[in-house]
Amino acid sequence: MSRRPGNESALTREELVRYERQLLLPAIGPAGQEKLRQARVVVAGVGGLGCPAAVYLVCAGVGHLVLVDADAVELSNLNRQILHWEEDIGKKKVLSAAGKLGRLNSGVRLEPLALRIGEANAEELVRGADLVIDAVDNLETRLLLNRACYRASVPLIHGGISGLLGEVTTIIPGKTPCLACLFPKPPKGKGPIPVVGVTPGLVATLQVMEALKLLLGFGEPLAGRMLYVNGETMTFSTVALAPRPDCPVCQGDSVAP
Ligand SMILES: [Zn+2]
Repeated sequence: MSRRPGNESALTREELVRYERQLLLPAIGPAGQEKLRQARVVVAGVGGLGCPAAVYLVCAGVGHLVLVDADAVELSNLNRQILHWEEDIGKKKVLSAAGKLGRLNSGVRLEPLALRIGEANAEELVRGADLVIDAVDNLETRLLLNRACYRASVPLIHGGISGLLGEVTTIIPGKTPCLACLFPKPPKGKGPIPVVGVTPGLVATLQVMEALKLLLGFGEPLAGRMLYVNGETMTFSTVALAPRPDCPVCQGDSVAP
């Protein structure tokens, strides 16, 4: 998408049409759309949560998306990981996802990284991002991301699911309790959890709703609050989160009570 010469920040004619309906929102408008275009978001995990999250971030025009996942597509992923199709089995998930997303919105810069998130690279991966979407499938990696985001002062939008249950919270370093306050230790020896694709779809779209509010600076994010979603009873409840006084990650920081 070419920009008008001498007017680098203005939206192109094509962008004005593409984003026409969201530009009508007072909280977005051309200035907000420009903020989205300049944003860099890391989607950690390109599975059940990461696929729908990436779709909506790309649709919204978030300018730079970093996709991180080391795994390859398997047939058993296809009930929920909507960017991976039969033809992608065996491909790296980040490449499968980036291929589709680039066709959806060629104006977004996609950075696929086929890496496993670990102690050594977590902080480097998140540093400089405007926010990180926690779309990984295990608590150990979530806690690594949490610590890395805390150190790098990058907001982390946590989403988790099991069966028809889901949860979402937004962690803002220095302002809210962190994930290690809530889950001090990863559970041991847990097998695959049951998932029906609509649950991560629902939770991921809530994560993107949070992401857009943070990037645009409006509304009330789930900062210091956990939203619990129960698809079986169709109930949504919000619980205030408390910092853990002995939290090894955020202890000593100015955490709201
Ligand atoms: Zn903490």
